[in-house]
Amino acid sequence: MHKSKEYQHCQGCPLQGNTKVGTDGDPDGPICFVGRNPGAVEKMRGLPFVGPAGIRLDKVIADLKLEREDVFITNMVKCWTPNDAEPPNEAVERCWGYLTFELHRAKGIVVALGRSCQKALTEREVPHFSMIHPSAAIRRGLYEAVLRRDTRLLKKELAVWRRRKSRAKGGKRSAKS
Ligand code: SF4
Repeated sequence: MHKSKEYQHCQGCPLQGNTKVGTDGDPDGPICFVGRNPGAVEKMRGLPFVGPAGIRLDKVIADLKLEREDVFITNMVKCWTPNDAEPPNEAVERCWGYLTFELHRAKGIVVALGRSCQKALTEREVPHFSMIHPSAAIRRGLYEAVLRRDTRLLKKELAVWRRRKSRAKGGKRSAKS
């Protein structure tokens, strides 16, 4: 398995010369958002989801009554692709070890943002919650309602996750006493 941030020196696929963007937030947080790969603004700032889609994602996070630093944010592919193009399959394959490392570390609900990410996680049997990509809602107003619906559903998932977590904590306490 890969170590954290090892990808900073990775030359594993044809995207190797492009800017690499890491993660943001708290891996112990209740949600781990996974996007496809960094865009132009992310490339400039070196953080995931800080462009227009990131601003919309921040609103989703606020609707969940959380702060950005409470959640973990990452991308399936760490390198930027010109013109926001779909990364080649080889990049998804080669980068997968880095994401696997992060997902093992992350404690919260894995939320796949957008179709590419949902497909990759489903194919590899990683349990996740599927959410429309915030950029789709920005591009087509029609999808804004879908994003709001997904946010409401995620809020419910979060409540279940919290209940389960507090039951597990209670179980551990009574086992100790
Ligand atoms: S996309 Fe992933 S596998 Fe390809 S060079 Fe970048 S870090 Fe390495």
